[in-house]
Amino acid sequence: MMSGETGAQNAITPMQTVVNSIRQRIAAACQRSGRDTAEITLVAVTKTVAAEQIRAAIAAGIKVLGENRVQEAEAKMLALSDLRSQLEWHLIGHLQSNKTRKAVALFDAVQAVDSEELAVRLNQLAAESGKRLPVFIEVNLGDEDSKAGIAPASALPLIEKISQFSHLQLQGLMAVPPYLEDPNAVRPFFQKLRNLRDEALKSGIAAPTFQHLSMGMSHDFEVAIEEGATFVRIGTALFGARNYSL
Ligand SMILES: *Cc1c(COP(=O)(O)O)cnc(C)c1O
Repeated sequence: MMSGETGAQNAITPMQTVVNSIRQRIAAACQRSGRDTAEITLVAVTKTVAAEQIRAAIAAGIKVLGENRVQEAEAKMLALSDLRSQLEWHLIGHLQSNKTRKAVALFDAVQAVDSEELAVRLNQLAAESGKRLPVFIEVNLGDEDSKAGIAPASALPLIEKISQFSHLQLQGLMAVPPYLEDPNAVRPFFQKLRNLRDEALKSGIAAPTFQHLSMGMSHDFEVAIEEGATFVRIGTALFGARNYSL
């Protein structure tokens, strides 16, 4: 067969091109910092993104999805239920206490645990549903009033506490540092999160599963990888600017 005849089937979708370019940038950041790309999980952040667009991203190789709101995620999970077994859905936004039951039922991981109270509740609900829920502790690195997350000074005690919960599996730390135009200016915040993790590891207070750093978004994920990120959460660079009015 002439190669030209298969051209249409082999055509790369626009989404595939975008995913490939992000993967290449991840690989380049890994190379610069002597890391293995296998250490990095790309979380596609799909808030405000329609199910069909998410489907295209999955076809392009995306396997982990990040959603901020339980209700919004639920609708998309339904629309993409045929793909459920291939996917991991992570809750990356602040969890209201009246949504915890639903969150435990729906999500594969909760990345934004920011209080002992919430952890206690998640632990109870996970126990009731007979599962062990992977969680991350969100740290408010810049001490910003507008942001969720615990103060850095409270991180170690909470790590120690949650590590002992029977139905939570503490994966690591998560942060949304201040937005700064120059991604390099965010570097000290990423270093701060890594130092917190390393301190916890050194002091032996953390669960064996505690190792991850979920940090880095569209405009600063390469710097985050250079500073040790193992999960990068990318929305805009994959799906374009969000339209919140939809
Ligand atoms: C929206 C969001 C992201 C993705 O941000 P982009 O800049 O669009 O890549 C990552 N993490 C959290 C917690 C978010 O709310």
